[in-house]
Amino acid sequence: MIRPAVPSMSDSTGDRLADPPAGVVAGPPAPHHHHEPLAERSDHPIAIAVDHVTKRFETGGDRGTVALDDVTFGIRVGEFVSLIGPSGCGKSTLLRLVSGLVTPTAGTIRVNGLGPLEARRKRQFGIVFQAPVLFDWRTVDANVGLPLQVFRRPKAEIAHRVRELTDMVGLADFRDHYPWQLSGGMQQRVSIARALTFAPPFLLMDEPFGALDMITRDRMGNELLQIWAATPGTTVMFITHSIPEAILLSDRVVVMSAHPGRIVTTVDIELPRPRTEAVRESAAFYRYENELRRMFHEAEGAHG
Ligand code: ADP
Ligand code: MG
Repeated sequence: MIRPAVPSMSDSTGDRLADPPAGVVAGPPAPHHHHEPLAERSDHPIAIAVDHVTKRFETGGDRGTVALDDVTFGIRVGEFVSLIGPSGCGKSTLLRLVSGLVTPTAGTIRVNGLGPLEARRKRQFGIVFQAPVLFDWRTVDANVGLPLQVFRRPKAEIAHRVRELTDMVGLADFRDHYPWQLSGGMQQRVSIARALTFAPPFLLMDEPFGALDMITRDRMGNELLQIWAATPGTTVMFITHSIPEAILLSDRVVVMSAHPGRIVTTVDIELPRPRTEAVRESAAFYRYENELRRMFHEAEGAHG
């Protein structure tokens, strides 16, 4: 798979450091914004461009809730980017804005040059949430095949695609099972398979493994990387609370702070792929972990 050597989005803001081996941003994270006009960078095409986006929810009476305040960032084609930040910092809101489920109060979002709604209509997104949304009375096959049924695809095509998808997520032996007969991890694999139905260029995942135990979660991370490797060019926007998970999976980690939600900094994860056990146990991995943990806590404390 082509894995573009993605330059840090923060290069020009001066917060890159003189420690290339770790590739971690040095010093206290300056609570700055990335105001660089994304569209003008041509080294790698920007797949998702979020430009000066603010989202305020009207919550009656007062000034409402500012979920996101002037957020600018981009994700390049084929990149795997994780967002981490304290609860309530606007991660889910950002994902919902990108997918066109909510509209920004200010600013613009482009997805492969389209507005989010248009991109959604063109089935550019596969979306996976923390809780798998499965129908209890449908088998794995019938759950995975649902979007194709909705679009009234021919039976043979549905059967073929469902087999491909269930194979891809390792559920070949469970296709006749019902959701309640599956573990949490397996249920989430059904959700992932279904999200991949139309081979979407974008996979948007909102804490997809957040409800799983640690061991299952690790395994799912590895499986997701295999799926991603098997679908070249897929751009992933992944939300997580877990720092090791973000490091394991990502090309880049975006750290956010809360109240209002802002991007604090971006860290390039310059670890080799595949992310083997050896990579995960490397000193570089732990350096990233320590650095991100510190940033995460500073972001958490920044606004009380
Ligand atoms: P995160 O996913 O990082 O935990 P969210 O994006 O869910 O954060 O929420 C960010 C902020 O926006 C929170 O203060 C939350 O209460 C508020 N918020 C989110 N969705 C809505 C909504 N539909 N109406 C009002 N407030 C909302
Ligand atoms: Mg959330």
